[in-house]
Amino acid sequence: MPVRKRFGQHFLHDEAVIGRIVEAIDPRPGERIVEIGPGRGALTWPLLARAGRLEVIEIDRDLAAALQADARGTDRLEVRVQDALRTDFAALRGEGVKLRIVGNLPYNISTPLMFHLLAARTAIADMHFMLQKEVVDRIVAAPGGKDYGRLGVMLSIYATAERLFEVGRGAFQPAPNVISAVLRLSPEEARYPALAAQGAAGERRLQRVVTAAFSQRRKTLRNSLRGLVEPRDMEACGIDPRWRAEVLAPAQFVQLAVRAITMDR
Ligand code: SAM
Repeated sequence: MPVRKRFGQHFLHDEAVIGRIVEAIDPRPGERIVEIGPGRGALTWPLLARAGRLEVIEIDRDLAAALQADARGTDRLEVRVQDALRTDFAALRGEGVKLRIVGNLPYNISTPLMFHLLAARTAIADMHFMLQKEVVDRIVAAPGGKDYGRLGVMLSIYATAERLFEVGRGAFQPAPNVISAVLRLSPEEARYPALAAQGAAGERRLQRVVTAAFSQRRKTLRNSLRGLVEPRDMEACGIDPRWRAEVLAPAQFVQLAVRAITMDR
């Protein structure tokens, strides 16, 4: 079967790495585990063996058909041929237990896919992803460093992120150009009640504030947030307008967005 580059296909073949990932996920019977991009089944079969049932979402029809035809699956493996970016995960969960999401993700869609999943976070118990190491470093970065930025701040609003371990290029076939790492994301439903109270408008405002602050990260907040947050409102939040984006904790971005939106009303 051809390797389809446009689908970001790099297949895991290192048994030790596969074992470590499955161990970190620790699948149990009764859980609803959904694997995104099962490919040739490197994670699928050990996950199925532990969980007893598994659902997979695969965009490549040929790979999906091969999994469907595999005798190890029978009625315990449910294969959906679809684009995970267009999957309605809240509908997929329905009335049942929350989903556990797993995926060695195609790196070109990993960021939009994480945001797509976090938009459905009330339907999700946790997520384990293989990602490009640099992306994981940015997601877990603490304020103050060069890796700290928009991606980490925005994800931290909705989830707790843990970097589990690195995976070298040789674990994949074909080998990617980059080192990978495994990330665990545990959605948090009510981390910032003041933001939640503002609904979708609050989320949009936060997005604009964080994007503006980091798109000109060398500038002071007074300059990068001109027209979005007034300096006096920064001060009211205990934030000095001469500071730069990288020193603000996620909670302080939330404070700024909530303050700005309330002052507009
Ligand atoms: N899980 C397998 C493994 O570890 O060997 C394959 C991982 S490979 C990096 C990514 C997989 O995601 C491929 O099977 C690819 O066809 C699939 N894929 C790519 N884009 C997708 C999408 N939008 N929705 C669902 N699956 C996708």
